[in-house]
Amino acid sequence: MTLSLDVDVAIVGSGFAGALCALALRQRGRRVALIERGRHPRFAIGESTTPLTNLLLEELADRYDLPEIRAFSKWGTWQQAHPDVACGLKRGFTFLFHRLDERVEDDEDHGRQLLVAASPNDEVADTHWYRPDFDRTLVEHAQAAGATYLDETRLDTVRDSGTGMRLSGTRHGRAVEVNAGFVIDASGPRGFLTNALGTGSAPLQWLPPTQGVFTHFEGVDLWENVAPPDGRPPYPPDAAALHHVFPGGWIWVLRFNNGITSAGAALTDPLAARVLASEGAPVWDRLLQALPSVREQFRAARATLPFVHAPRVAFRCREVAGDKWALLPSAAGVIDPLLSTGFPLTLLGVARLLDVLETTAPGAERQAALAAYARTTQQELDVTEQLVAALYSCMVDPALFKRLSLLYFAAASYSETVRRLGRPHLAPGFLLNEHPQFGAEVRGCAALAADAPQGSARTALFERIDRAIEPFDTAGLLDRTRRDWYPVLAEDLVSSAAKLEASAADVQRLLVRCGLVS
Ligand SMILES: Cc1cc2nc3c(=O)[nH]c(=O)nc-3n(C[C@H](O)[C@H](O)[C@H](O)COP(=O)(O)OP(=O)(O)OC[C@H]3O[C@@H](n4cnc5c(N)ncnc54)[C@H](O)[C@@H]3O)c2cc1C
Repeated sequence: MTLSLDVDVAIVGSGFAGALCALALRQRGRRVALIERGRHPRFAIGESTTPLTNLLLEELADRYDLPEIRAFSKWGTWQQAHPDVACGLKRGFTFLFHRLDERVEDDEDHGRQLLVAASPNDEVADTHWYRPDFDRTLVEHAQAAGATYLDETRLDTVRDSGTGMRLSGTRHGRAVEVNAGFVIDASGPRGFLTNALGTGSAPLQWLPPTQGVFTHFEGVDLWENVAPPDGRPPYPPDAAALHHVFPGGWIWVLRFNNGITSAGAALTDPLAARVLASEGAPVWDRLLQALPSVREQFRAARATLPFVHAPRVAFRCREVAGDKWALLPSAAGVIDPLLSTGFPLTLLGVARLLDVLETTAPGAERQAALAAYARTTQQELDVTEQLVAALYSCMVDPALFKRLSLLYFAAASYSETVRRLGRPHLAPGFLLNEHPQFGAEVRGCAALAADAPQGSARTALFERIDRAIEPFDTAGLLDRTRRDWYPVLAEDLVSSAAKLEASAADVQRLLVRCGLVS
């Protein structure tokens, strides 16, 4: 007999994003089906959060009255409320720049390093999500809130039934039919609706094609043991998203508190061809042969899962929404893990889409709102793609890579602070891309950097980046005496109060409220 469900919203895919949508919609009394082709716990890639990710999670939790989810937005509250859910401590972004076939040696100005702190202490720090635990927990919360969860379900078709969308498939040999007023596609890249509706992918405009190789390991050494820092870094460099950058690609290393470390590489095609990215474990070993210092960090490491080879990391979709369906940003596009942009883009999209469903009724008004949602999603993926593509062009030029990446850090820290101050209009769009000056400057600087400028053009680009950053720099990013080690300092924020259209007292209060000072 067919399993038949009538719901207000069907959500395809039960990663953290699908589960969060389900939870929020249940809090508003909607009937929800959450449909998953696999089952939890399961491995998922995409693990490292940022201050903006966690602020967006906090905002969603507050808006939908989900205190148990809010606890996941900081290391301290997570450890207190959910010690059984594994995660990693992320105090910042650590970049180390390598030349192929050479050990990494640095100078006293940290020419081959960039350390950008994201938090002043562990209590309020960001985390790496151990997705097998994290996603399962969120799904359990969604079920407890009354969402109907169908795992191990294969969806075959979707069609417009006039009043809604009808999804058909099978579960454990039994036919399944879900009639929904609206479908949210949370099934990740190259996901369900893109295939079922045949809406198709879109070409990348800026990024070179890249391949991914990744898995989970145990026994990965601390980078601090391989290359002890000279002096006192702004945070322990391993309690971070550790990026080993080299010509043609980069490696991420993310440590969890259960002995597991996530690591993988994103490689441009020429480098992937050199190490034959499709052969799993031998590729990893061959890549590390060319990176002696990283090889040392992994000398005692053992993969705990089979290697995954992603023949194409990045993906863009042509269409993001129709009148009764929408893709989350994570289904609409993946750019690259380089700046941990996937989660904030996804959560921005979750908040916007929930807003559309809450504030519009089916019809012309909703259609217009969904068209705006689709436009914003594509624009935010565009600016991310353009900036990350430019960073790929600079992997042979650490100084330019570092300076360009400060555009990201300036936008991220400014956006977080103005949102926390209740002035989100000051930072419109992801990476401030809708800001008339800053958005244009990010695109302009990225376009120039992509051409690998030399001589006076390169110097002019450095100056242009500094000018673009200055009005938004609330983190001392232009202070060269910091030698590319950037701590989180209360005084930087206080002295930037005018840029935030706030008083020093407003900023002081914010710092206390957010646990940044006691
Ligand atoms: C190599 C790599 C590294 C990344 N690292 C980071 C990072 O460090 N930080 C960051 O912010 N972002 C990162 N990202 C992006 C990040 O992975 C995504 O933003 C995030 O996983 C999106 O979560 P989600 O819940 O929307 O989808 P997913 O995690 O992709 O979950 C989708 C779910 O849908 C299910 N599903 C798929 N198809 C169907 C179907 N047809 N029917 C039913 N269910 C289906 C899947 O089984 C899965 O459970 C990375 C991406 C890649 C490719």
